[in-house]
Amino acid sequence: MTAHVKPKALENFKARDFRMLIDGAWTEGTGQPIERIAPGHGIVVSRYPAGSKGDAERTIAAARKAFDDGPWPSMTGAERSNILLKAADLIAARADELAFLDCIESGKPISQAKGELGGAVDIWRYAAALARDLHGESYNTLGDGTLGVVLREAIGVVSIITPWNFPFLIVSQKLPFALAAGCTTVVKPSELTSGSTLVLGEILIEAGVPAGVVNIVTGTGPEVGAPMTTHPDVDMVSFTGSTGVGRLTMANAAQTLKKVSLELGGKNPQIVFPDADLDAFVDAAVFGAYFNAGECCNAGSRLILHTSIAADVTARIADLAKKVKVGDPLDPATQVGAIITPQHLAKIGAYVDGAAKAGASVALGGAALDLGLGQFMAPTILSGVQPDMAVAREEVFGPVLSVLTFETTEEAIRIANAIDYGLSAGVWSRDFDTCLTVGRKVRAGTIWMNTFMDGASELPFGGYRQSGLGRELGRHAVEDYTETKTLNMHIGARTGWWMPR
Ligand code: NAD
Repeated sequence: MTAHVKPKALENFKARDFRMLIDGAWTEGTGQPIERIAPGHGIVVSRYPAGSKGDAERTIAAARKAFDDGPWPSMTGAERSNILLKAADLIAARADELAFLDCIESGKPISQAKGELGGAVDIWRYAAALARDLHGESYNTLGDGTLGVVLREAIGVVSIITPWNFPFLIVSQKLPFALAAGCTTVVKPSELTSGSTLVLGEILIEAGVPAGVVNIVTGTGPEVGAPMTTHPDVDMVSFTGSTGVGRLTMANAAQTLKKVSLELGGKNPQIVFPDADLDAFVDAAVFGAYFNAGECCNAGSRLILHTSIAADVTARIADLAKKVKVGDPLDPATQVGAIITPQHLAKIGAYVDGAAKAGASVALGGAALDLGLGQFMAPTILSGVQPDMAVAREEVFGPVLSVLTFETTEEAIRIANAIDYGLSAGVWSRDFDTCLTVGRKVRAGTIWMNTFMDGASELPFGGYRQSGLGRELGRHAVEDYTETKTLNMHIGARTGWWMPR
């Protein structure tokens, strides 16, 4: 960890001015633009229009018209698929530009941002394949007089609202599946990291997505996001963000009974038994806690270690964590970048202070790092954390690892489940029974066994309880953006109600 100076890539850098995409036209906002200050460099890097409620309503109207009258929902699956494949190729061609925007706007390391772009391209290709395979069911088993056909139809206009921590990856977990199903969309990226989503708008136009099918409106949640969750012309809201705003989104959507898909917070445990491959685990613990500076819904922020190994394993994790390279997000060797805003850094610090006051010990780090530019937090380990402490139950969303201990398998499962979240969990043991027992009893959408935070486009992802509602990715992701319609067809003479024949 050394102080860094303004990197070469930013020496003659001019902040990039973006516009919104409404009905195929690039549109300025009316008010003062939102300026994004790079969290790792302290300079303005992007300006986005501060969209208004009126802008949100215009984009919804454009998406509605494109759905009701436009060609997109009527195209063949093959036609939509070809456009999504073209989009994937164009994303790959502009991956460096997109990764650079995600890096400077969010503060994540550039090498990681490039990896996320690779993952996103794969998702667009996967969704393109699903576009051709979307189908319903038929029932030829209802007797000679009846044939039942269940259609899958695009649900309509979808509002897509995304957070700042994985700007391009998360829009890619939603938009290509909605498009594959034939939906039209209004997309609102976070007001902190809108750049790469707006470049995606350019890419989709070039790929052949018709005007009005993808609209991108920028601005704050209360001004622009809220109307996207209440407007009667919106059929579904797909939201990723905090549990608090997720709850509000669901309440807003309930007024017109929209379908909602929610990907929310997590407080994910890694349960470790003495017979585990501890070398592999120590690496996964450091990765799970500090990847994306811990600003990750899937962060493995709670370790639940068997008491017999807790002290030794904690010391080994601390040794490895000291080697993690925190610094300039644009340096290809950086592993942990900047914290998203100064306010968020203060919130992380308050959690650490609160835990220390409640009796936990700061085994590593615990404070902000002054690297000369931007805001950074030292990789932190808190030991002696008790299950009822705020730091063990709430999402810190920073590089802070809490260490808890257990004696029996039942106790480990109880601690893992004793929170409001249920996004993901890890279990480490060489014993097959132990892994399966814990894997089946822990209530979370993903359980990693002897690994952590792996993923694939084919595997569904989402949360139990207050971590969310619905699943993204996987072969059913496209079905989430559909309605089913039953065609109940009669064959031959019908038996009348009044005059039985
Ligand atoms: P956030 O809830 O503050 O904001 C998310 C989005 O919602 C932003 O675009 C924001 O502008 C918008 N928004 C805010 N208020 C709104 C309102 N009243 N109506 C409509 N939209 C509104 O979340 P964040 O700080 O951007 O992201 C961090 C959170 O996201 C963490 O809790 C994290 O766990 C969660 N997250 C979850 C997943 C997942 O897949 N489960 C993935 C990434 C992030």
